[in-house]
Amino acid sequence: MSSNGFQVEHRYLELPQSFYTRVQPTPLKDAKMVCFNHRLAQDMGFHATNEADWAGIGGGTELLEGMDPVAMKYTGHQFGNYNPELGDGRGLLLWETLGPDGRRWDWHLKGAGLTPYSRFGDGRAVLRSTIREYLCSEAMNGLGIPTTRALFMVSAKDPIRRESIETAATLMRVAQSHIRFGHFEFAAHHEGPETVKNLLEHVIALHFPHLIKLEEQERHARWFEEVVERTAHLIADWQAVGFCHGVMNSDNMSIIGDTFDYGPFAFLDDFDAGYICNHTDQGGRYAYNRQPQAGFENCQYLANALLPIMGEETIRNGLQRYEAAYNGRFLQNMRDKLGLAQEDESDMSFVMDTFSMLNKHHTDYTAFFRALSSLYDHGYAPLRDLFVDREVVDKWLMRYKKRLEQETRTHEEREHQMRRINPKYILRNYLAQQVILEAQSGDYEPLKELISVLEQPYDEQPDFEKYAALPPDWGKHLNISCSS
Ligand code: AMP
Ligand code: MG
Repeated sequence: MSSNGFQVEHRYLELPQSFYTRVQPTPLKDAKMVCFNHRLAQDMGFHATNEADWAGIGGGTELLEGMDPVAMKYTGHQFGNYNPELGDGRGLLLWETLGPDGRRWDWHLKGAGLTPYSRFGDGRAVLRSTIREYLCSEAMNGLGIPTTRALFMVSAKDPIRRESIETAATLMRVAQSHIRFGHFEFAAHHEGPETVKNLLEHVIALHFPHLIKLEEQERHARWFEEVVERTAHLIADWQAVGFCHGVMNSDNMSIIGDTFDYGPFAFLDDFDAGYICNHTDQGGRYAYNRQPQAGFENCQYLANALLPIMGEETIRNGLQRYEAAYNGRFLQNMRDKLGLAQEDESDMSFVMDTFSMLNKHHTDYTAFFRALSSLYDHGYAPLRDLFVDREVVDKWLMRYKKRLEQETRTHEEREHQMRRINPKYILRNYLAQQVILEAQSGDYEPLKELISVLEQPYDEQPDFEKYAALPPDWGKHLNISCSS
């Protein structure tokens, strides 16, 4: 295949050479196309007439003219400890293309084989984890939360050893940028201030063009504030939708504020404030209710890396933005979920009391807010049915209805808006698990169906009601393997 039609700009290669190593993908055996995201391809400015043509690229046996694969070097803090040995251990940045709307797209092949940064790993990704990443990227995008995307995935026969023997797959992950907080940590701790500045200007030039014209000090200060705010906003969006990332290490934090690196993630089923989705996270460092703090700590790691070029005052001011940005976005998200367009001082305590109730009564988080979005349409029964103790919810409803008296919108209008905020369909762990089992036995149709449902999570999809059902008991206690 040629690069015909693609506007190629491999700008990452303009960074100092210490940021990457050229590596060719290691071919997989008999790679077959599993899913291809045609809608995304269209946004990126191309059309895949024949999906199968892309299997060779996914399988590491083919490159388009102009692709120049590199493994990126970064470091980072993992569970609070600095690790200087990180980098793309199994993924390769193939090239960057520009879409018709001027958007930049990094093409990153995850599972492409060994690199100098593989450490003890095998350079591969298994089918199970690749499906989870594909599903969740597209589910997040459907929810309107910034995320890396899935362009296509292939599956191969090569056996891969995890807890048991599985098979290999690759994901073509695309994003505006694959630069992480950890890139800055690498530059600061191993290369020096000039390299940090170089990286910083690169990121601004490509991803923060509105800042380019500012004078240097101002440009750096505004940029850091914006990164801190984007991070805070992202995590406020996760909290509102009940998303647990699971591995919020600083090498998994995107510098542009995308949700990045899907491993042992989970969406809450029953609300559980202290939920830990990563069973290797024994201390619960990245538990659901600790994510906002973890996001801040990551901003602090980034701040440390920037300190030599920005100065303490600027750094402190930037970091200070986190709390207000987080709180503001979170409260707004929750007001939207509750259908409160008017602001009242007591709203935050109402939100916290609501969370306490859901936590105490193990209420399904998604179902609660979706049922609340149709009180006047469908009546109270669907909401009340989520509680064993109806008195609890009735008492809450009285308070809620009292609060609604301050609102000026009609019920129809309010609930219509609420259904654009409170998803009906989320990627529950058990749904992912079901389609993974089907895929492992060779049937990818259920996976494709689930993807298409999750692309429109706010719409009523009468033919696919089953995907909105509460999880069966076995589905709530899945011990999902966190290996990937
Ligand atoms: P993660 O926990 O997925 O964010 O990965 C942390 C680091 O381990 C990154 O540098 C990855 O590239 C690397 N890594 C994860 N899995 C593998 C693997 N199977 N082979 C090589 N490197 C890996
Ligand atoms: Mg990672």
